[in-house]
Amino acid sequence: MKSNWLDELNSVQKQAVQIIDSPLLIVAGAGSGKTKVITHKIAYLVLEKNIFPKNILGVTFTNRAAEEMKDRIQNISGISANMLSISTFHSLGLRILRESGQIMGFNHDWQIIDERDQKKIIEQIIKENLKHFSIDLIEECRRKINMAKMSVIYPNDEESLFKMGFNQDDIRIFSLYFNLQQNYKIWDYEDLISFSVKLLQNHENYRKNYCNHFQYVVVDEFQDTNPNQYELIKLLAQEHQKITVVGDDDQAIYSWRGASIRFLFDFERDFPGLRIIKLEQNYRSTQPILDFANSIIESNSLRRKKSMWTEKKKGKEVFLIHTSSKEQEAEKIAGLISRLKKSNSEMFPLAVLYRINSQSLALETEFLKQNIHFKIIKGLRFFDRKEIKDCLALLKLTIDSQDNLSFLRVVDFLPLGIGPKTLNLLIKKSKETQKSLFFTLKDNFQDKFKSHKLFDKMEELNKNKNNFRFSEILNLLLDFSNYVKSLDEKQEHSRLLNVKELITFMEKWEKNNPNAEFIDLLDRMSLESPKRKNEKKMPVYLLTMHNAKGTEFQTVIIAGINAAYMPFFLRKGYDELEEERRLFYVGATRAIQNLIVSTGSQKTSYFLRQIHTAFYTTVFESEELYHRLISGGEAENSDSLSRYIQHPVFGKGKIIKELSSSTFLIEFVEKGEILIDTSVAKVQFL
Ligand code: ATP
Ligand code: MG
Repeated sequence: MKSNWLDELNSVQKQAVQIIDSPLLIVAGAGSGKTKVITHKIAYLVLEKNIFPKNILGVTFTNRAAEEMKDRIQNISGISANMLSISTFHSLGLRILRESGQIMGFNHDWQIIDERDQKKIIEQIIKENLKHFSIDLIEECRRKINMAKMSVIYPNDEESLFKMGFNQDDIRIFSLYFNLQQNYKIWDYEDLISFSVKLLQNHENYRKNYCNHFQYVVVDEFQDTNPNQYELIKLLAQEHQKITVVGDDDQAIYSWRGASIRFLFDFERDFPGLRIIKLEQNYRSTQPILDFANSIIESNSLRRKKSMWTEKKKGKEVFLIHTSSKEQEAEKIAGLISRLKKSNSEMFPLAVLYRINSQSLALETEFLKQNIHFKIIKGLRFFDRKEIKDCLALLKLTIDSQDNLSFLRVVDFLPLGIGPKTLNLLIKKSKETQKSLFFTLKDNFQDKFKSHKLFDKMEELNKNKNNFRFSEILNLLLDFSNYVKSLDEKQEHSRLLNVKELITFMEKWEKNNPNAEFIDLLDRMSLESPKRKNEKKMPVYLLTMHNAKGTEFQTVIIAGINAAYMPFFLRKGYDELEEERRLFYVGATRAIQNLIVSTGSQKTSYFLRQIHTAFYTTVFESEELYHRLISGGEAENSDSLSRYIQHPVFGKGKIIKELSSSTFLIEFVEKGEILIDTSVAKVQFL
C-alpha cells in the first residue's frame, strides 16, 4: 500500500472521498478524476472506516471497467482484487438471482442467453407466427421487448404494453418469447436486472438482507444507467442512503428515453440529503485537446455547462488528416503508426477509435499488411464467437440432455444428417411426448442418423460426468465429434486457436474453483471476458467510441469523421444528433498527449465544420503528420505563452507568431490571419 495515497487527490476530490454520511453525486467532465475518486473512496472505506471489502458494492458499465477498477484499488490499497464486490449491473443481477432466485421459482438450472441468441429466437418466433418478416421487424420487436422488461412489464399486462407502443402482433411475439424462456429456462440480459428488481420489490426481507450486506454503494458512469438499473440501485441504497454516484451528462451515449437528463433529478428526489460536488480540473489531456473537445460539445444545447481547465497548457495541436476513402485512411493511419513504432514509444499506448465495429476491417487489413501488431478491444467477445458457442453447446447438451437450445445448435453445426424436415418432425414429436429433443431423437429415430454414435457417447459421458472435469469432457467430445479435425482440415487456424484457448481457460478455472458447479462456469462465461493478457511494449488498440468510455491512451486517432459515420447516418432525430456529438466528445477526451482526427471520405463530418479551425491543423500526408507530431513544434517551444487568445471582436484565435512582446500574428476562423497589438486591443490569453 502506498503510504500517502490520499494525497494523490486534490482537495475537492479528497472531500468527495471523505463524504460518507450523506448521498453524494459527483458531476464532472471527462478526465476530472471521477473514477479515481470512487476507487479511492472504496479504499478509504476499507482502510479508514474498517468496512469489509465485500460489503461495499461497486457498479460500473463494462467488465473491462470493473476489472480496471479492481486493479486500481489493489494498486493503491493493497486490497486483493478478489475480495472486492465490483461488478457490472448484469453480474449484480445474476448474483442476486443465483443467490435468491428460488423465492421467485427460479431453480439453479436457469441459463443466460446473450443478445445474439435472443435475436435468433425472436427471429424464429416471428417466422413461425407472422405472415410478414424482415430484419427490421426482429430488431424492432427485440427493442420493444427489452424496453418492456426494462420497465418490469410482462406479457400479461397488455394495457401497459399498448401504452408503450406495442401492437397486437408485438404482444403475441413477446408472449411466445416469454413462454419459450420459461420452457427452456433461459434469462436474457434484461431479465437479470428486471427479475432482481422484482425480487427486491416483492420480498422485503431479501431486500433488507442485501441492504445490510452492501453497506455502501458506489456507481461509475451513472449518466448511462437505464431506469431498471437505477431502480435496482435505489432498492439497495435508498434506506441507508450510503451511496456515491459519479457521471458526466456530456458523456451520455446510450439514450434511455431521456435518462441522461432525468437521472440527476430522479436522484435528487429519491435521495433527499444529497450533496453535489463538481470537479473542474482535467488531469488527462493537454489544453489543445481540451479546447478541441470543448468545441465539439459546445454545439449541443441540452447540457449543463461546465468550465474545465488543465494545468497541462502546453501540448501538440490536434491534427486533422484528410483522406478520401477508408482504404486510404487505413493506409495513412498504418503508415503513421509504423513510423511511430520505430522510435517514439512515448506515443503509446495508441488507440484507433471508430463509430461502428465494421469500420475496423479496413484498418485490420492494412495493419496486417504493414506488420503492425494490434488488439481489438471487445468487438466480438471471446465467448460470443461462433466456434466457442458451438463447443459450449456440445458440452451443455452432454451435461444436461434437457437443454433443447443447445441441441438445436449442435445439430446445426455438426454434420449429423439431421435436416430441417427431420428437425420439424422431432420438434413436433417432442411437444407431443413432452420429452426433450435429445431423448426424442434417441427414442424414435436413433438408428436412422449418423448422429447416434455421438449421442450414445454423450449419454455415456453424462452418466459418468462426476468422474471427469468439464474440460476433459469437452476434449473428449471434440475428438469424438471430429470437430477439431474438421477445423484443422478446413485450415480454420484462428478458430482452432480459440477452441484451444477455451480449453486452457476451463482448465485454469477448474483449478481455481475446485468445488464449483457447471452452472458457475457457465455464468462466468456468459458475462465475463477473459482478462486482457498484458500488452506488448507499444500497444495499439482498435475499438469503437462506445467501448472507449472511461479509458485513456497517450495517442488517440479517431477514424471516419465524415458525413456517413459521424453522426452515424441512421441516426437522424435532434436528440440522436446530440448523442452522436457526445460520442465524438467521448472519443476526443480519451487522448492524453496526441489527438488526431481522420476523415476517411471526401465529405467531412458536419460536426467537424462546427469546430473552430483555430483548434486543429489540417494535414494531408502521414509523413507530414509524423514530422509535425515528433518535432518540438511551436507549441512546445512557446514557453509560457498561451497558444490561444480571445479577442473582443474576432473571437478566439490561434497565435501564429510572436513579433514583439505585444504584437502577435493571430489566425481567426472567419477573418484569417491578423496582426494584433495587445497593448491596444483588449485580448485575453487563454
Ligand atoms: P472519464 O470521464 O473519462 O471516465 P474520469 O473523470 O473518470 O474520466 P479518471 O479516469 O479518474 O477520470 O482520471 C483521469 C486521469 O487523470 C487518470 O490518469 C488519473 O490518474 C488522473 N488524475 C485524476 N485526478 C488526479 C489528481 N488529483 N492528480 C493527478 N492525476 C489525477
Ligand atoms: Mg471514469
